[in-house]
Amino acid sequence: MSYVDEVIERVIKENPNEPEFHQAVREVLDSLRPIVDKNEEAYRRDALLERIVNPERQIKFRVPWVDDKGQVQVNTGYRVQYNSAIGPYKGGIRLHPSVNLGIIKFLGFEQIFKNSLTGLPIGGGKGGSDFDPKGKSDREIMAFCQSFMTELCKYIGADTDVPAGDIGTGAREIGYMYGQYKRIKGVFEGVLTGKGLTYGGSLARTQATGYGLLYIVDEMLKCHNDTLVGKTIVVSGAGNVAIYAIEKAQQLGGKVVTASDSTGWVYDPDGIDLAALKEIKEVKRQRLTEYKNYRPNSEYHDGKGVWSIKCDIALPCATQNELNLEDAKMLVNNGVSVIAEGANMPTTADATEFILNSGVYFLPGKAANSGGVATSALEMSQNSERLHWSFEEVDSKLKGIMVNVYHNIDDAAKKYGYEGNYVIGANIAGFEKVAIAMTAQGIV
Ligand code: NDP
Repeated sequence: MSYVDEVIERVIKENPNEPEFHQAVREVLDSLRPIVDKNEEAYRRDALLERIVNPERQIKFRVPWVDDKGQVQVNTGYRVQYNSAIGPYKGGIRLHPSVNLGIIKFLGFEQIFKNSLTGLPIGGGKGGSDFDPKGKSDREIMAFCQSFMTELCKYIGADTDVPAGDIGTGAREIGYMYGQYKRIKGVFEGVLTGKGLTYGGSLARTQATGYGLLYIVDEMLKCHNDTLVGKTIVVSGAGNVAIYAIEKAQQLGGKVVTASDSTGWVYDPDGIDLAALKEIKEVKRQRLTEYKNYRPNSEYHDGKGVWSIKCDIALPCATQNELNLEDAKMLVNNGVSVIAEGANMPTTADATEFILNSGVYFLPGKAANSGGVATSALEMSQNSERLHWSFEEVDSKLKGIMVNVYHNIDDAAKKYGYEGNYVIGANIAGFEKVAIAMTAQGIV
């Protein structure tokens, strides 16, 4: 049995009931075969793969809080500090009822390679809780965030582990968590990113993941003598990533015709009205059913369905495994030419394989959505310097980073004989740097 297969088998055996984690490990290790084969003796001797699939530390804790009726609620909190070979642990906090250890491990594992791809000194980590922010009052959200941070603050710090937002954790939640950290620790430091602009946040962080997604797509198209101008684009999600992906896609001349949330989706053949979408989601925190009130010509449908719409470019920006084989077939039959992942692992493994074999350009999340964490790292730099950079400065650095990410993954794919396969390119390019650092730092 090959070294890669041995490690995959061991991961499945030692981490039962964690299908998303197995999926992420399999996807990464499978595509590392070319580099592992070349270095098998050294990697085996150092148990490099066994070490990289095992988190350095995983923390699980109780989060008790009191709801508006005076009832005590108890949630579970997690922080997986996965790999610090190239910098402090960095990765978001997900608040969603589906959160469990396996989900946080899958996200943390992916984060190692994504963070490495940005070229910035950040290690991999992820955290979260099964708390559901939907329908909670502001006071309940604050009570949860304060309790969550009361425990988490023992394990994080500006030079050790710097969490950020993710699904369910936006500026409001980061604010409450930051306030509690500062109160307990008594230090004003860049321990979280995604902070508000008046207390250490970075301009352009809100936009970064969505904008970065479009910058990398734009660069890839340029390298293939194409452009975003006039392209029909289908987006899933209506959260932070989706909204700013739509904004930049429109600015670059594309026409985005869909958005979705966990209840349904909208099709607006005239192009999504971004101001309406922002008001519904960012200001009023409502469901997408409201969109029709702003745009009577649009259609609202319950459930999922954006992938049935004919398009040139598809951008999954909601959640994991939201684009399956059937969806991929519909997209390809309808003539899609680019699929780029704004979300983490939104495409199932069989759908990814189908897409790669169908000649469609496929940009995996760890490259395509790395603009968010890259800008978080820029926020850390600004906090360390105690300076604020202008929007233009951060945005232009973000653009430069995404252009570099594209060329890194393209070069790595070519170097190992898989030209155009950006899944292999991204995994190898992200892994190589971490592997060199781990080897140099000895058996730790
Ligand atoms: P948000 O919470 O802001 O938005 C998530 C969107 O996806 C919402 O529209 C939500 O609908 C929808 N959604 C969530 N879960 C499901 C589900 N199970 N089924 C269908 N729709 C769902 O999160 P973000 O935009 O920040 O994150 C989206 C994705 O991007 C995630 O995979 C995240 O890990 C990834 N990502 C985010 C980064 C960031 O900077 N924010 C950076 C890199 C990756 P509803 O409102 O109804 O729940």
